[in-house]
Amino acid sequence: ANWRDLGAAAPTAACAAVIKGDAYGVGLEPAARALAAAGCRTIFTAQIDEGVRAQRVVPEATVLVLNGFPPGGAGPVADQGLVPVLGCLEELEEWAALGRARGRPLPAALHVDTGMNRLGLTPEVAAAVAARPDLLADLHLVLLMSHLACADEPAHPLNARQCADFAAVRALFPGVPASLANSAATLALPSAHFDLVRPGIAVYGGVAVH
Ligand SMILES: *Cc1c(COP(=O)(O)O)cnc(C)c1O
Repeated sequence: ANWRDLGAAAPTAACAAVIKGDAYGVGLEPAARALAAAGCRTIFTAQIDEGVRAQRVVPEATVLVLNGFPPGGAGPVADQGLVPVLGCLEELEEWAALGRARGRPLPAALHVDTGMNRLGLTPEVAAAVAARPDLLADLHLVLLMSHLACADEPAHPLNARQCADFAAVRALFPGVPASLANSAATLALPSAHFDLVRPGIAVYGGVAVH
């Protein structure tokens, strides 16, 4: 019911769910099952092993791994049918090379850092990637995403700047769905909804906005 409410708060976007940290302590398997039963078809985990567990209980869902894979680790992720969130150029090149070797571009999300300063390509590197058709031809980008640093304070000026910077990056990747909002932004920052919202804490009843 919480997940449905979050979806209703972002009516123009699709609604995913984040189940990292053992679904915020609720338990990964029961959370994944309940979400799938409610209609959720896009699930984010932090780690690969969590992704494998989620896929086992909800094979109908697309499971994205926020932390991607370590150097040399693309093969097993692809074999599992997981979708890595690529956060640096080396990882992106490894995923593209694997797609080339396997004769078909493999699905991936691209994480751009617009101010969280944690994970993701800088906007400059993302722009360089967007200008490389050779690299893009070997990637099946299913999502362009970024993460808000201060979404729990909806009036914080960084939110508007991140939304604008993200929109600018997004324009470089026409046709690729975009995702920026966590729980707080899903509930209180409509300008961050884009194509897909990614609530975590609020799915489990936690307070998202202060
Ligand atoms: C944890 C996380 C979320 C969900 O954040 P909440 O504040 O728990 O809703 C969304 N996106 C990314 C990249 C995350 O790491």
